Amino acid sequence: MKFISFGSGSSGNCYYLLEDGFGLVIDQGIGIRSFKRYFRDYGLSQGEIKAILVTHDHTDHVKAVGAVSQEHHLPVYAAEKVHSGMDHNYLMSKKIAEPNKHFLMPGETVVLGPFTITAFDVPHDASANNGYFITTDSTNFCLMTDCGKMTEEMCRFINKAENLVVEANYDEAMLVTGPYPLYLKNRIQSGLGHSSNRETAAALASSLSPAIKSIWLCHLSEENNHPELCRKTVQCSLNSVGCAAELHILKRRTPTGVFEL
Ligand SMILES: [Zn+2]
Ligand SMILES: [Zn+2]
Repeated sequence: MKFISFGSGSSGNCYYLLEDGFGLVIDQGIGIRSFKRYFRDYGLSQGEIKAILVTHDHTDHVKAVGAVSQEHHLPVYAAEKVHSGMDHNYLMSKKIAEPNKHFLMPGETVVLGPFTITAFDVPHDASANNGYFITTDSTNFCLMTDCGKMTEEMCRFINKAENLVVEANYDEAMLVTGPYPLYLKNRIQSGLGHSSNRETAAALASSLSPAIKSIWLCHLSEENNHPELCRKTVQCSLNSVGCAAELHILKRRTPTGVFEL
């Protein structure tokens, strides 16, 4: 399985998995022109995209979902409320055609080509928010973003993960002393906002199993986090439990290389 992050954070999220010529886009919140350029630059074919999974209906995750779905007639999988949220999101100008709307509720599993995909609930202040646990014949991949808090169920998926994308949005001291207005600081910390470096580090330390190979920290805040601080906080926690997984920090606006999982 190949994995690429095309962008991660409030300016746009988009991830790509490719296995046996079957491409799966997870969220599409980056500009459509950049998306097409990245495919060209990587020598990838948009014709290989077979489906789109959506976590939640905030614009940084869905801005171009309708555009990509329309252009390639792609099915879009998301929780039912997230589909209605996308219908009503006026910043998502192109909409998903009715036959391409597929509901994937927490607890449900769908098989798409080589991928077996199970959705689970991630607390966040969107219409709903799915995490995804995706297995192939050779490995698995788990993604959870915009995590208001790390629930027991989420920790059970962390425990099974070999490859894990998980949010580490903010440093708690930077958020408290930073420039955001109080209501926004409260929203981020509310349990329906975002996860801090410390919360993510603690969940990883308590839940990771020896099966884990690689961790990508995603959705870092520009104002309330710093990549090296984030890395240090999580790496310390991994060291404390003897976890030797590779740790990567996803860039907000720069695509990664192609990871072979
Ligand atoms: Zn987001
Ligand atoms: Zn969000």
